[in-house]
Amino acid sequence: MARIRRIRRANPAWKIPAATEREYRSVLLRMTDAYISEVKASLKAADLNSQLRHDGIIDDLAAIWGHLKAVSRSLAGEVVPQLPRMFTRVSMYNDKQWRNVIKVGTGFNIPASRDTSDSGLGVDAYRAEPWLDRMQDVWVSNNADLIKSIPDQMDGRIQQLIKSAVVNGSSAEQLADQIEQEYNVTRRRAELIAIDQIQKGNAALAKQRMSDAGVTSYIWRGAMDARERAAHVAREGKVFRWDDPPPDGHPGEPVRCRCYASPSWAGSIFDIGE
Ligand SMILES: [Zn+2]
Repeated sequence: MARIRRIRRANPAWKIPAATEREYRSVLLRMTDAYISEVKASLKAADLNSQLRHDGIIDDLAAIWGHLKAVSRSLAGEVVPQLPRMFTRVSMYNDKQWRNVIKVGTGFNIPASRDTSDSGLGVDAYRAEPWLDRMQDVWVSNNADLIKSIPDQMDGRIQQLIKSAVVNGSSAEQLADQIEQEYNVTRRRAELIAIDQIQKGNAALAKQRMSDAGVTSYIWRGAMDARERAAHVAREGKVFRWDDPPPDGHPGEPVRCRCYASPSWAGSIFDIGE
């Protein structure tokens, strides 16, 4: 005779932390726009238009780039201290989603992350999540580097554009257009960093939390909309193992990937029936 099957219905969709994604995006765009304004003002003061044909222009600009470097460090210095809070928000949202997936998918209620008070289910101890601080430190450090790279990369490319303009004898108007495009590229890069890093943090948390619960494989689920990559649509509903990722990574790991891993409960700590 069959025992009670605890694993009872399809897992619900795993939602992405959209509010934190929006917040991080706007924080990075504010920083980037403040920096772009400073660069614009500095280049205007340097009077590129009339100075472009002067031999000493590159040397004259060195002092400006030195000043801008200090400005970019100070702007990044305002954003970096917000990163731990940002990661905590992603983690808490992810944990809420995870508990919901478990509740609907298996019928179990589990305590929140780091709430190890005994609920009588015998599955609580693993919620201490000793890896969480380390994961946060790594995420914060990676993001601090990426944030500093936003103005640094832009400065490098604008300096290159100015040098080329001097060497090639381009007009001041051509140079101004090229620099303007660089501002747009930089804004898009800031947005991409914000969205991608929230997704990657969320994906890493999901993977670790499932592994903690003894989940060894998952079903690939995507947004199934026009923006999803064809290669990911082709994986819809297929089973993958956490120790054997597809070539471009697990759901949420490739750039801008909004797919998620829906846990396969067999063999997990929630799999108590047959
Ligand atoms: Zn995807």
